[in-house]
Amino acid sequence: MCQPFIRNHHYNLIKKQAKLLQQACENGSDPKVTESVRDGALLSVMEAFPEASELQRQTLESLTTLRTEAQFRGYLSSLEPWMERFEPVTEQQIKKLFPKVKKLKVPDLAAVDFRYVTYLGWSDVAASKLYLVYRLDGKLVGIEGRFTPTHKKGACFLCRRQEEVALVTAVTKSKPAGASPDYYKAIGNYLCVDSEVCNRNLTDIAALERFARDVTGSR
Ligand SMILES: [Zn+2]
Repeated sequence: MCQPFIRNHHYNLIKKQAKLLQQACENGSDPKVTESVRDGALLSVMEAFPEASELQRQTLESLTTLRTEAQFRGYLSSLEPWMERFEPVTEQQIKKLFPKVKKLKVPDLAAVDFRYVTYLGWSDVAASKLYLVYRLDGKLVGIEGRFTPTHKKGACFLCRRQEEVALVTAVTKSKPAGASPDYYKAIGNYLCVDSEVCNRNLTDIAALERFARDVTGSR
């Protein structure tokens, strides 16, 4: 029985490292160079799973045996049954997260492959809004931000890749101790316009978790 343990961002990280290694193998680099890429790839992957069980380690470590394109492809598809998907959400659950939004535009959830989702994000361009749904410490949280398109490529604060980004400004619910009742703070970040692209790029959730904690005020 497979106990899923590879989240979307983990999978992206493994894919990225496997690709680097595959390139080194294909380029016929100096064997020493290839071996150091191999060691580096394994280290990056294992660091993402500090609590891996023996079986999980073995599954991941077979990365070091790969040489050919077919083997790399086989390795990645062998990981798919281990993928822990984002537990699907319903339209009702999403609406409950944004009780103040009258005509909330909800994405077509049936079309979402939740295996490749770290967060759900979508924009309502007409209303200049962006919505983000994430499971923070096992609890669904909704973030609403003001959405200002840039129509330009820039570094996304979540996936850190150069993509078309928009400025997303969210008002935080967290207040410093002793702040006045009308204390107000907004956080602005450049974020991928296309959340599917962002979810495919994400290899680390630290920035997302920090942002979700700051905005929702959960510690
Ligand atoms: Zn992004």
